[in-house]
Amino acid sequence: MKNKKSPRSFLDNVCTYVTIILGSLSGILFAFSIVCAVNHSWTEFGIYLAIAIVLLIITIPLMFRGDIYKCPKCGHEFKINPYKLFFTKGMLCDLEGTPTKYVKLKCPKCHSKDYCKRRWK
Ligand SMILES: [Zn+2]
Repeated sequence: MKNKKSPRSFLDNVCTYVTIILGSLSGILFAFSIVCAVNHSWTEFGIYLAIAIVLLIITIPLMFRGDIYKCPKCGHEFKINPYKLFFTKGMLCDLEGTPTKYVKLKCPKCHSKDYCKRRWK
């Protein structure tokens, strides 16, 4: 029983790997599209960019899967639209390699805009 992993944690691991692979692939394709733009190969640029954007759209919800945020004012815990979160200031810190602990979000309960603490599952 010791070595037996629950199907839930196995799925979580698979999701993490898929997120990393898709994220890197998206980055590589973005780099390719820039190279194509420099060489004025606009057809290739469009193709690479389109694939990179599609990959990013798939990756974003996986990246924030199960994340919960806690409002500092009323203590209400809530989930947020991952696409919205990706474009917040807090997300930029994640791209630099440091995990974001606080993200400025609007609480759905008390409607105050403050730095909410991120809790990983
Ligand atoms: Zn609140």
